[in-house]
Amino acid sequence: AKNKGKSAFERFSPEMKEVSHERLQIESRMRRALELNELELYFQPIVETCSGKVFGAEALLRWNNPTMGMVMPDKFIPLAEETGLIIPIGQWVLEQGCQAAMQWQKAYGIELSISVNVSPRQFRDPNFIDVVLSALKLSGLPPQRLELEITERLILDNSIETSEILTRLDQEGIRLSVDDFGTGYSALSYLKSYPFDTLKIDKSFVQDVNNKQEDASLVRAIINMAHSLGLKVIAEGVEEEEQITFLNDENCDYSQGYFYGRPMPEPEYRDWLETSQR
Ligand code: C2E
Ligand code: CA
Ligand code: CA
Ligand code: CA
Repeated sequence: AKNKGKSAFERFSPEMKEVSHERLQIESRMRRALELNELELYFQPIVETCSGKVFGAEALLRWNNPTMGMVMPDKFIPLAEETGLIIPIGQWVLEQGCQAAMQWQKAYGIELSISVNVSPRQFRDPNFIDVVLSALKLSGLPPQRLELEITERLILDNSIETSEILTRLDQEGIRLSVDDFGTGYSALSYLKSYPFDTLKIDKSFVQDVNNKQEDASLVRAIINMAHSLGLKVIAEGVEEEEQITFLNDENCDYSQGYFYGRPMPEPEYRDWLETSQR
């Protein structure tokens, strides 16, 4: 709307030229990020709400580039998705994530779950199921301890392929969760036709459960609905103790957020395990 009435030439401002130049630069750097070892997986604790005992971790990608510094996923995942680079990057995340969960088991004897984000492009890649299975095989992680996080946006397309891929993964014993639940403008009907195991309540609902009656009602309703469908619930973005009190009263199974721990590099996650879990 801002550009209304301007010619195509005027719209293509020097500023925009810079933006697309920057984009190209990021893109070519991203192409080499994997081989140059610039990607790093961070881990954020997922905790059982009632006991505070660790359940597992969500794997979250970071990109350490010598010129750009630490690049956050919101900045480069969309570009990786557009260019298709998310396919090799996503494979790397799956392999590293499964491996980490196995290493924690070897080091501490605890069987933690690892949650991995899956983007639409990656999900629709014909090799996706093989990539997931080979990550499990390579690491030795039992499929029940891998949870794939899928956004409502991906499910929205309602295609036969989506349903078939989800069913295959479910049959392999891999767990499936709906990420950012409540933000995807999606009809709820997919919850009964697709084999999901977990709902992740988006942080925008969790933020104000203690001071907005509407948000409290929504979260309560989501938890009850999920449970009556046989799904577990993870609350995202938990930052304060009062939120945990609320979530625990409402029988929310798991919680994740800065209150417990920020996403952290693998060695720090180990430290977190050692100090918080004994
Ligand atoms: P997400 O899957 O919803 O991940 C949760 C985001 O919330 C993370 O941001 C995390 O750092 C942040 N977060 C966790 N606890 C709190 C809290 O208490 N308060 C607040 N305000 N935020 C919290 P991050 O790490 O920047 O990741 C952003 C998004 O990038 C992720 O959102 C996910 O959609 C995407 N992403 C990250 N890693 C990957 C990946 O390996 N593959 C794909 N396809 N997407 C990824
Ligand atoms: Ca996620
Ligand atoms: Ca299942
Ligand atoms: Ca989320």
